[in-house]
Amino acid sequence: MQPDKNPVREVLMKIENLKTYFPVKKGVFKRTVGHVKAVDGVSLDVFRGETLGIVGESGCGKTTLGKTILRLCSASEGSVKYQFPDGEQDILQLKGTELDRARKSLQIVFQDPYSSLNPAFTIFGSFADPLRKFGVKKRKEQEEIVAKLLADVNLPRDYMTRYPNEFSGGQRQRIGIARALSVNPELIVCDEAVSALDVSIQAQVLKLLKKLQNEHNLTYLFITHDLSVVEYVADRIAVMYLGKVVELAETDELFKHTLHPYTKALLSAIPIADITRKRKRIPLQGDVPSPVNPPAGCPFHPRCKYCTDRCRTDAPLLTPGTSEGQIHYVSCHHAQEIAEGRME
Ligand code: SF4
Repeated sequence: MQPDKNPVREVLMKIENLKTYFPVKKGVFKRTVGHVKAVDGVSLDVFRGETLGIVGESGCGKTTLGKTILRLCSASEGSVKYQFPDGEQDILQLKGTELDRARKSLQIVFQDPYSSLNPAFTIFGSFADPLRKFGVKKRKEQEEIVAKLLADVNLPRDYMTRYPNEFSGGQRQRIGIARALSVNPELIVCDEAVSALDVSIQAQVLKLLKKLQNEHNLTYLFITHDLSVVEYVADRIAVMYLGKVVELAETDELFKHTLHPYTKALLSAIPIADITRKRKRIPLQGDVPSPVNPPAGCPFHPRCKYCTDRCRTDAPLLTPGTSEGQIHYVSCHHAQEIAEGRME
């Protein structure tokens, strides 16, 4: 399923009914008494060359979704079908050399690049390990590749001899991006990749990510809680709430014709730089419910001002609607009535 205004786009990754549950253990015998449903039935297509933004409040499952795709968390159910050059394979079922091949194609850039770089290694040392693992054995060759990667992220060659603590946050993030690129990936999961940076440095890193995407034909899964960042960077946006995707559309479409009450509340909180314009803030009632015991019916119903009896018992499905020719998915029983102002 995908809202695709360009039907010739190639599906690089097909996520189907993906669930990641973590057991909750209690007592002396550590019995499993429940599960945290971090990702709860996500289905998404990721197109080659696009940036798919995954947004939501903290705890909505977006980071776990990214980690499950990369096999950094174990999936409980579902599949992640990836289009390799020789055909489609389910990443969740891969082992041995096939899993290594998938790990080469899929990389991650973390929020805190400092924690992903070994402080005891120079930058060259941090890059050499993945390069060796994927077949570049000679030091001279490794140095040339590292120099080229540093140049790609606008850093000088001699930085490879320095240690991570010698760099600023923005420089470290560039190094994190360069390291992700070192094994020629096709898809990069950017997990809150610019959230820890100052606004001016954020802009530089986002520009750099766009440039690299064009040069290397990269696909990004851009995970963030910051909707103003995702508006700038993403082609499409999936909004997650309590482990589920509740709205999915092209970026312009989602911002112009927001359908889900949760997305409306998130968008209303984005600050506007222009003091002559005002946006009415829609406060979210209450806290995010526990993912151990998500509410029956629509998971958003305890916080939704439009909630009806049906919302408390029937779980809405993510279904397509169209607006101005674009397909726009939403999971809300009353999306149409709300959009037409019939439920104020
Ligand atoms: Fe609100 Fe009901 Fe729509 Fe859920 S289904 S978002 S509770 S109106």
